[in-house]
Amino acid sequence: MLMTLDEIFEEFADLDRQDQSLYLLELGDGLPEFPVCGRTDENRVHGCQSQVWLIADISGTQETAPFTIIADSDSNIVRGLIAILAASYNGKTAREILEYDIDAVFHRLNLQQHITPQRRNGLRGMVDRVLTLARMHLVTCGGGEPVVRGRSPAVESRPDLKNIPPLNPDDIRRQFPVLCKLHPSGLRPIFLDSAASAQKPQCVIEKEREVEEQYFANAHRGTYQFGLRIDEEFEGSRATIATFLNAASPNNIVFTPGTTIGINMIASGWGRRHVHAGDEILTTIMEHHANFVPWQQLAKERGATLKLIPLTPDGRIDLDQLDSVLNKRTRVLAITGMSNMLGTVNPIRELVRRARAMGTCVVVDGAQSVPHLPTDVIADDLDFLVFSGHKLYGPTGVGVLYGKPERLEEMDPIIFGGHMISEVRIDDSSWSAAPAKFEAGTMPIVQAIALGTAVEWVQKTGLASIHQHEQSLTTLAMERLQTVPGITIYGPDVAHRGGIITFRIDGMHPEDLAALLDQKDVSARHGHHCTMPLHTYLGVSATTRVSLAAYNTVDDIAALMDAIEFALKTLIRR
Ligand code: PMP
Repeated sequence: MLMTLDEIFEEFADLDRQDQSLYLLELGDGLPEFPVCGRTDENRVHGCQSQVWLIADISGTQETAPFTIIADSDSNIVRGLIAILAASYNGKTAREILEYDIDAVFHRLNLQQHITPQRRNGLRGMVDRVLTLARMHLVTCGGGEPVVRGRSPAVESRPDLKNIPPLNPDDIRRQFPVLCKLHPSGLRPIFLDSAASAQKPQCVIEKEREVEEQYFANAHRGTYQFGLRIDEEFEGSRATIATFLNAASPNNIVFTPGTTIGINMIASGWGRRHVHAGDEILTTIMEHHANFVPWQQLAKERGATLKLIPLTPDGRIDLDQLDSVLNKRTRVLAITGMSNMLGTVNPIRELVRRARAMGTCVVVDGAQSVPHLPTDVIADDLDFLVFSGHKLYGPTGVGVLYGKPERLEEMDPIIFGGHMISEVRIDDSSWSAAPAKFEAGTMPIVQAIALGTAVEWVQKTGLASIHQHEQSLTTLAMERLQTVPGITIYGPDVAHRGGIITFRIDGMHPEDLAALLDQKDVSARHGHHCTMPLHTYLGVSATTRVSLAAYNTVDDIAALMDAIEFALKTLIRR
C-alpha cells in the first residue's frame, strides 16, 4: 500500500535523522508493480544514476483527468523517492501538477540531508518527466496554454490557428524511415538540425520512386503517355503549392532550385530593372547570406544604399525605429519570415502594411517560416516569397518563388533557353508568360512532384498542429537549456520565436560541443549558420544551433540535455 503524503510527513517527524534515511529505503516497498513492457528507453528517466522508468496512468483524455504516477527503479532509495512523488502527485490533474510546489515537500522532508547531489539530479529528472507528461497531456487534450506560453503574435491574430488538433509525435516519427533506424550505438537518431534540411516522410520517398519507376519523362516536352502523366503530376504539384500558400493562381508559383537561387533571381531579374542610383534597399542584420549578399551586391552595382532595420536587444525587429529607415526611396524590403539563427518570427503583415505606404516591394525569405508557420500570401499581401523544398520535408534541388502576377510581369528572366522561350529570332527573342518564363532548361521534375507530396503531407498532418507542437517543444527546450551553467541563448522569448534555438556555453567551443553531442547521437549544427553579419553584431564567431520539426519529441529534448551534461562533464574533466 502506498502511504499518503500526510502519513509520510507524520512518520518522518517522529524519526531521528538516521531512521529517516532507513525509512526512505523502505518507503518504496509498497509501490505498485511496474509493467515489464514499460521498461523501454522511451520511459527511462535520464539523468538518474540508477535505472528509473516512469509513466503516468491518466484516467481519461479530458483536461481534468487525474494522474497516477507509476515508476520503478533498481535502487531502493530511488523507489522511496518515487513513493514520495506518487504521494505528492497522484490524484492531481495535469494543471494541478504543473502548479504544485514539489520543492516544499522535499524541503519539509529535509531530503537534501538524505540524498547525494547526484541523486538530487535524478530526483529533478523524475520531477521534470512528470511535469513534461502533464504538459503533453494538456497539449493532447487541447488545453495547451501552459506549454505554448508563447504563441507568436502572428499566430495570436489568426483565427485559423485557434483550437488546433494536437499532434502525436510518435506517430509522426514512425513515418520517417531514417529516424526509425538505430545508430550503431543502438540508440535512435536525435535529429535536431531540421533548419538545415528536414528529413523526409515515407510518402515523399515513395513518390520520387513512383515517378522514376513508373512514368518518368521530361516535363512539357512529349505528348506520349509518360509525357502527359509527368505534366499532370508536375502541374498538379504547382497547384497544390499554390493552395498551400493561398496564392491566387498556380501561375504565380515558379519552381526554382531553392531559396538562394530564388532570391538571386528576384535581385537580378526584378532588382536590376527597378533599383536605381540613390534608391535604398532595406533589410536586416539577421538575414541568411542568401537574403543579404544578393541585395548588397545589387546596391553596389546600382549605386543604391543598403539599410538595416535596427533590432531590439532580444533580437526582434524594432518597429519603433522602422520609420527611421523606411521611406519613399526604399525600393525593396528584403526580410526573413523566421531567422535561421535567432529563431525570431518577424511581423511580416505589419511590415508589409508599412512598406506599402512607401510603395516598397516586399521580398520574404520563407526558407524557415514556410515549413513551420501557416503562410498566406494574399492576406500578408506579399510581393515575393521564396522557400526551399528540403526544409519542408521535401527533396533537395527544388524550391518555390511566389510572385504577385504584376511583379512576375515586371521581372526579367536571368536564365535563358528551353521551356521559357516564346520565340527566338536572330536579332532578339521573347519569353513565355510566368511561370514558364522563369523555368529555363530541364527542371528538377521528380523533386518538384515530390515537393507537392511533401506539401500534402504537411497539410494532412496540419501545419497549425505542427507549429503548436514545435512551440511546446521550444518552450520545454528553452526552460531546460536555461538551467545549463554558463549558457547564453540568443534571440527572443518563445512568444516571438519558432523552433530554432541557438546558444553558446562558456568554456566550450561550439564545434567541440557539436562533436560531443554527436557522440550521444544528437545531431546539432555549429558554426555561423550563414549569418556572419549577425554573428559579428552579437560579438561571436560561432554558435551551436538546435532546430525542431514535426517529428521531434519530448524525449529528444531530454536526450539533448543528457548529451549537454555529458559534454559539460567531458570538457570540464579535461
Ligand atoms: N534563407 C534562410 C533563412 C535559410 O535558413 C536558408 C538555408 N539555411 C536559406 C535562405 C538558403 O536556402 P537554400 O540553401 O535551400 O538555398
